[in-house]
Amino acid sequence: MRRLPVFFVLDVSESMVGDNLRKMEDGLSQIVRSLRHDPHALETVYLSVIAFAGKAETVAPLVDVASFYPPRLPMGGGTALGAALIHLMHEIDRVVIATTAECKGDWRPIVYIFTDGKPTDSTDIPISRWKRDYAHKAHCIAVAFGNYADLSVLRQLTENVLVFEETQGDSFTDFIRWVTASLTAQSRSVGNGSPGVQLAKIDDTLLKIIRDLPPPCPNLVDKDCVTLIGRCQKSHKPYLIKYDRANIHLETDYFKIDNAAYELSGCYPLDENYFAWTDDSNPNLKVNTGELIGTPGCPHCGNPSAFAMCACGGLMCIGSLGLAQCPWCGKSVNFENTDADGFDVHRGKG
Ligand SMILES: [Zn+2]
Ligand SMILES: [Zn+2]
Repeated sequence: MRRLPVFFVLDVSESMVGDNLRKMEDGLSQIVRSLRHDPHALETVYLSVIAFAGKAETVAPLVDVASFYPPRLPMGGGTALGAALIHLMHEIDRVVIATTAECKGDWRPIVYIFTDGKPTDSTDIPISRWKRDYAHKAHCIAVAFGNYADLSVLRQLTENVLVFEETQGDSFTDFIRWVTASLTAQSRSVGNGSPGVQLAKIDDTLLKIIRDLPPPCPNLVDKDCVTLIGRCQKSHKPYLIKYDRANIHLETDYFKIDNAAYELSGCYPLDENYFAWTDDSNPNLKVNTGELIGTPGCPHCGNPSAFAMCACGGLMCIGSLGLAQCPWCGKSVNFENTDADGFDVHRGKG
């Protein structure tokens, strides 16, 4: 039986922290459960998962649907789509069996790329390599989550670019159903010689197809959310604070404010694995705390503020003012009340 290799290339950057990442994990389990009930898929579909943040790696090697176990997804800083494409091409070369004169190899692999951000690395060379050497022997479907993904880069990569926007509570479930239905259709249609890829019927309240090439996005940093990394003073464990962009518009008879600020969306515990998935090249992006609204507590020890900064630049949690020990540099820091307008902190690349 010829295999139909399916690669999921998933963005696990900081902007996916919290609900989105959990939904993606649940979504994968859901897809696999459904495919196991489909005789065609069960016989032909082989699944692999590649995760990418600042780096890209295979988190689930290519196996048949019956043996596939949905991986726990990591998280890291950065959206290295270029690195993800390089890794994907390497994996296709490594695991997909090519058809030769003597033997029939695998069916043309199908790649699903899910991302919600803008690439933080260079994608030009990997995309031209993909177009030259892989586009004719693999099907690629790119799905952008939300409004902030760089559609122009995705559209250069493939003609199949879709935007998914969560409009209601159950739209993600509907989206997962759509992916499953597409995969089922694809496993049935292999071998019929059609050059395009079969996609399930698209509900346009759920998914929008991008037909034209959108203008390029110039900025390398995801400006739609701000993420900051801190460490718990007590346990030294890392955490991630996420702020989402909020456009503040205030108008009275006396003044008018139009300001782009960032509102707290949550503070999430991380493990040390985060640093392994993060791009080391720190571009030293800074954000002024005056633009950030809301202070979270520490998700590890419950200290009321996870937003205290040592002179070394490291963020940490504190319980009260006074002396504290920095979990980054080990020095003692004395926290006092200041009425400064804000200070600069390092921010992640999203
Ligand atoms: Zn703490
Ligand atoms: Zn320090």
